[in-house]
Amino acid sequence: KKIIIAIDGFSSCGKSTMAKDLAREIGYIYIDSGAMYRAVTLYCMEHGLFNADGSIREKDLQDQMDDIHISFRLDADSQRPQTYLNDVCVEDRIRSLEVSSHVSPVAALGFVRQALVRQQQAMGKEKGIVMDGRDIGTAVFLDAELKIFVTASAEIRARRRYDELKAKGQEASFEDILHNVEERDRIDQTREVSPLRKADDAILLDNSLMSIAEQKEWLKEQFEK
Ligand code: C5P
Repeated sequence: KKIIIAIDGFSSCGKSTMAKDLAREIGYIYIDSGAMYRAVTLYCMEHGLFNADGSIREKDLQDQMDDIHISFRLDADSQRPQTYLNDVCVEDRIRSLEVSSHVSPVAALGFVRQALVRQQQAMGKEKGIVMDGRDIGTAVFLDAELKIFVTASAEIRARRRYDELKAKGQEASFEDILHNVEERDRIDQTREVSPLRKADDAILLDNSLMSIAEQKEWLKEQFEK
């Protein structure tokens, strides 16, 4: 019998790597909910919905929510899911530090969360999915059969994000990334709508000192229990 697996946690703690690996191994669909908040943020950047001081033109964004269509398609070569915004592949652009530094205020808006949560719940109609994010176990799928909450020290998380961006040829300073990771965590934990927190029935994983292989094995064990 297929289930729903919810993986939440702090920024850049390797949730998506774990979730993707597990999904591939057990034949489930992987959904990156953060990519959806990032795509809305990119849309705002491209449509002048940020004021010069970084604040959001909320009313304009609310009026345009119905014009924002986000989907995931498998890349034919790599077989990896790619994020599409209004039929354009934005997978690389949504990972930039610029999007990372604007996304949390966008994700704090109630109407944005409402729209995206509804789409995420529709994707979960068919069981057999692994979804990662910040509120999957506390808001999107309250009855997910397996809930994991991942954390690691901020320095370690920033180092991982730094290496990841560098590998993609997107240079950014370590200090800027560390600041971004800490700032996103702060906004995500203090927002009014579904703040980032561990669900009571989630299993806590601090992966600061674990290799990717160890995390993968740990997660597989939780699934098989
Ligand atoms: O997971 P990722 O780091 O790509 O998420 C980007 C941002 O999107 C997070 O910092 C958070 O502000 C927001 N997010 C959210 N709820 C989710 C997933 C992401 O608020 N379920």
